[in-house]
Amino acid sequence: MKAVYMADVGDGLCLSIKTIFGNFIQIDCGSLSQGKIQGAKTAAYGLKRIYNNYNISPEIFILSHFHIDHYNGLLYISSNNKWGYHPLLKIKEVFFPKIPEFKKKREFIEALFTINLFIFGNETGIMEYDFLKAISKVNKTSFRYKALSQGDKIKIKGSVFEIVWPPKQIKEEEILKKVDKALNVFYIALEKHQKLRNLYRKIKEGGVFEKLEKTEEGRHELEDWNYSEINDMENMVSYLGTKKTIPSLVRKANKSLRDIANHLCLAFFEDNRILFMGDVEGYEIKQIVRYLISRDRKYFHIFIPPHHGTHWHKDLESIYWNFVLCSNGPKLCGKMNPNFKSKLTFSTCIHGDIIISI
Ligand SMILES: [Zn+2]
Ligand SMILES: [Zn+2]
Repeated sequence: MKAVYMADVGDGLCLSIKTIFGNFIQIDCGSLSQGKIQGAKTAAYGLKRIYNNYNISPEIFILSHFHIDHYNGLLYISSNNKWGYHPLLKIKEVFFPKIPEFKKKREFIEALFTINLFIFGNETGIMEYDFLKAISKVNKTSFRYKALSQGDKIKIKGSVFEIVWPPKQIKEEEILKKVDKALNVFYIALEKHQKLRNLYRKIKEGGVFEKLEKTEEGRHELEDWNYSEINDMENMVSYLGTKKTIPSLVRKANKSLRDIANHLCLAFFEDNRILFMGDVEGYEIKQIVRYLISRDRKYFHIFIPPHHGTHWHKDLESIYWNFVLCSNGPKLCGKMNPNFKSKLTFSTCIHGDIIISI
């Protein structure tokens, strides 16, 4: 890493890393500031500023996790030339978190996709697929994609980014209990709503779980995307503009299932230059710190703290940094943990776009 550019997109993230040899890695592009639609627009324009600043396309796109505040900007750009002109990005590689193996993984995936279908209607329900399709729409070239987990590495001209989270497998009761709880909420909603039951049956019969495994690694060619058996989703972002009334039980199930995504968020480091923690929470922070110490990594020039600077865990006391960079707007800025506040802390809410170079 030679420089980082954190665009001010409010409560979201649009971050880029320039490597020593001038390659450009984009991490997330989304925001929820002033609502989903405005947030998506703000994030898209954040990416545009970064693009104009470097005057080159990102070569790598890393999605930290499947939360809308982290990728709706991309959906916005991909929907009908919303940038004013097509940027014709030249992304060669795309990475996103791999869903670890755990007890009830199939039940979890099927429940999550059912809820996605219910809420987003004409989307496929498979977030990985929707996200990759959005990239293919803004991209000029074919690209390789891969789901990553702990120990995997992203390499670009000698710069090595090592993934520290999510793990390959989850055995920890803390997270498994949350999965159980989320599933219970989902099953209650299922009993109440016929439409949800029908979708659930469709997901199970359609072998969606197996399809997800196919999207874990591959190469996207320009003429691809023939998942003919799944609904096409030309208007994938139409939901950004629609306000559907979602029954409260379904909304509750959606929230609990989606909350799990923070636990499965990508976190990575590069040498002693940058540590990126994504939206991980207490338990994961502890595990990540343990992993970093085992890799003899305790010092970082730049630290991107967990969950927009709002989550702290005492084990972070063993990690040292020069600069803290927080991507947040008025909502999350107010919730920043005091442990991250110092003279060398920058927050987009206070400082606007942040550029730090070595
Ligand atoms: Zn977030
Ligand atoms: Zn999140």
